[in-house]
Amino acid sequence: MADEDYDYLFKVVLIGDSGVGKTNLLSRFARNEFSFESKSTVGVEFATRTIHVDNKLIKAQIWDTAGQERSEQGHLPCLPVCLHWPGHSRYPARYRAITSAYYRGSAAALVVYDVTRHVTFENAERWLRELRNHTDANLVVMLVGNKADLGHIRAVSLEEAQAFVQRERLFFMETSALESTNVENAFTRVLTQIHQVVS
Ligand code: GDP
Repeated sequence: MADEDYDYLFKVVLIGDSGVGKTNLLSRFARNEFSFESKSTVGVEFATRTIHVDNKLIKAQIWDTAGQERSEQGHLPCLPVCLHWPGHSRYPARYRAITSAYYRGSAAALVVYDVTRHVTFENAERWLRELRNHTDANLVVMLVGNKADLGHIRAVSLEEAQAFVQRERLFFMETSALESTNVENAFTRVLTQIHQVVS
């Protein structure tokens, strides 16, 4: 199949705290690869994979925040300040520009947390707020609790996550990029949902 052959092209963005596994979810889905190393080199900012959904070929262009986290005024150091006071002087123009470009044209977002680090789940609420400030209401959003293989050191219960997704009307899945659990399901679910919204 030529890479150009597809019926729909959907942009999907990955957001969430550093270290939750966004890059590995992407590499698992796009190339069936996993890395134990935390990323340190400059990598591609997005990867694509084409899948069949309802007899259509859907090309997913999945964006990872790697580039932003590495930037001088990246997402994370700025996050608590920026989200609370968007008009605040410490909200850098460059950050705003990067953020808007990142979200522009996206059809879905995966808001990722690490099931073993509760703070990453708490921050998911902030990521969601930022997302909703930059995107329109019919964006498909899935909350993803990654590193489900580390169940013995889990810090976020399923009940807690489910309460959040019900309140915010999100799709939800726990995944393991390491063990390849639910990664395919999460992306397929989201792409199917986008397809249903647009068709
Ligand atoms: P990012 O900063 O959100 O892109 O996170 P990375 O994809 O770079 O992953 C951060 C670290 O968590 C790396 O050491 C990965 O090997 C590890 N990691 C990612 N996904 C999983 C997973 O599903 N299970 C486990 N046990 N470790 C993971």
